Amino acid sequence: MPRIQQLPPLVITKIAAGEVIERPASVVKELLENSVDAGASRIDVDIEQGGAELIRVVDNGCGIQPDDLSLAFASHATSKLATADDLFRIGTLGFRGEALASIGGIAEVTLQARPHDLVSGAEITCAGGQLSPVHDWNGAPGTRIEVRHLFYNTPVRRKFLRAPGTEMGHISEIFTRLALARPTLHLTLRHNSKVVYEVPDRAGLLDRIGLFFGPELRDQLYPLERSQGPARLYGFIGDPACERGNAKMQYLFLNGRWIRDRSLGHALQEAYRGLLMTGRYATAFLFLELPPDQVDVNVHPTKAEVRFRDGHALYSFVFGSVRERLRQENLTARLHPTSTLADPHVQQPHSAEPGWFQPRAEESANSLFSQPGLPPVTFLSGPPNNQESGVRSQESGVRRQESGVRSQESGVRGQESEDRSRESGGLALAADSFPLTPGLAPGIKAIQLYDAYLVLETPEGMLVIDQHALHERILFDQLKKRIREGTLETQRLLIPEPVELTAEQAARVLEQRGPLAELGLGVEDFGGGTVLLTSYPAILGKRAPVAAFQCVVDFLSAKDRLPTREQLLNDLLSLMACHAAVRAGDPLTPEEIAALVALRELADDTHHCPHGRPTALLFSRHDLDKQFRRI
Ligand code: ADP
Ligand code: MG
Repeated sequence: MPRIQQLPPLVITKIAAGEVIERPASVVKELLENSVDAGASRIDVDIEQGGAELIRVVDNGCGIQPDDLSLAFASHATSKLATADDLFRIGTLGFRGEALASIGGIAEVTLQARPHDLVSGAEITCAGGQLSPVHDWNGAPGTRIEVRHLFYNTPVRRKFLRAPGTEMGHISEIFTRLALARPTLHLTLRHNSKVVYEVPDRAGLLDRIGLFFGPELRDQLYPLERSQGPARLYGFIGDPACERGNAKMQYLFLNGRWIRDRSLGHALQEAYRGLLMTGRYATAFLFLELPPDQVDVNVHPTKAEVRFRDGHALYSFVFGSVRERLRQENLTARLHPTSTLADPHVQQPHSAEPGWFQPRAEESANSLFSQPGLPPVTFLSGPPNNQESGVRSQESGVRRQESGVRSQESGVRGQESEDRSRESGGLALAADSFPLTPGLAPGIKAIQLYDAYLVLETPEGMLVIDQHALHERILFDQLKKRIREGTLETQRLLIPEPVELTAEQAARVLEQRGPLAELGLGVEDFGGGTVLLTSYPAILGKRAPVAAFQCVVDFLSAKDRLPTREQLLNDLLSLMACHAAVRAGDPLTPEEIAALVALRELADDTHHCPHGRPTALLFSRHDLDKQFRRI
């Protein structure tokens, strides 16, 4: 049995360095933080070979007393903390006194510093933990630190370094976070003597976002500012169109420090619920300010994670603030044909996504209530525009003629389809869920295309509506409202319908009896895997309630772990709304089109369906005119 022995200091340092210094970017982070803590207003970063050869950080901060230089490399030596109590009111980025010791243990470091009140400064080197004597140094006030040959004495770790470009990517990210966290700093970043970023001090937060992520993203942000008690939240949140495939564009800063926080990230995503498709992530630059005693930053080796005293309150604060802010915006998806035409190489962000221009395949396949074989109805209402002159009047002449034919057609076919839908009870449009608004029809210029889209003239431009997505959204909101107000209409089945399920499915369903009942779906246990459906929400109209119920069952049994009750209710609601809504492929009568459009005007949050697909695309009048070279 080997004996226990105390490790030599250098081994301890190397172990500690393993936690703090993962790669060159970690060194850059620690050095930048030290410069900020030193009160620097300008920091210049030079990198060679992705940081494997050289990392140099020069600042104009307070500098270091010549006598303190060697102490700077000692572990647990810091000027930022005096007592244990200070740990709970930390105002600096660093406080553990570990970074320089770690870096000095695994690289060749030269530290040069001069306090502003001294005529000259001093320098020291530390290589693999070995300190040199201190010498005079005649440099500018501030601190200059060079880290060469990172991991030179830990060959295994040096081998793990990635290509310079990759390491540089990580460094740029660290640099970006700091530049955003401290928007008054003048910062430069150079790689192999080439400027990567030059961030002047006068560049504010929004300018910086534009500098790092491009003007297009910058121009799709909404400013946000809220306070709650001592907590303050401000920054920018992205239009849903800025969505990404991962959460990298969600920048969160706490008291000037970039942090990662699963819970607050979740709050942000939840705030965008219904505006983004599953698996897509919002863009946000959020700054949270809290009294230091409300948060413990001493829980993570690189301080990237923190612990909040009241995480729940913060969650609702962030969720509520973002949600509220989004509600104030008109989030109708906008197309910018000009920019995409101008550059054919620009990938249209959504072109590969299903559901933007055609109904999703699974949707049509699932379509419980689709009615194949109905004749298509085309409808163009509203008086043709004859106020225009010249070339345009000729055009409108054609249109007028066309519209004449079509509306005649639609007169006949519309009638036909109405009859059929009445017979089959297929469309939930006309009845309870959806009061018809007669008299509106002549005022609305709308046509249905492909039995799936409504094209509408609005003052802003040509609006293309996805009929299913829009109806689904409206029904979803109505259902939600009625459930909240306790006015949801349910239809009792005179004779309960037995539904046969597997024992496991039945158990799942019966477990969720509460939320199902809130939705109007009454279920009772019949035994032997059979449950009885006793009632259903009236919104389904005459659509077979068992089929919709079956879908709910499938949904419940597909989940490994059920989400929270609120989420479950939300998911079930959108399932019901989806089933009750008109489908792509359903021809609509003029009245139905008018009703749908009118409901859109009345509802307040109709730009995306509950699954996050947009309900409408706007081709702005301006863009149209521009495309046709009228302006
Ligand atoms: P910490 O930042 O946690 O205190 P470090 O090991 O990063 O620990 O730094 C040790 C000490 O060296 C700091 O407390 C600070 O006094 C001094 N120091 C390091 N970098 C700078 C700098 N750029 N300007 C002024 N002082 C610095
Ligand atoms: Mg530090």
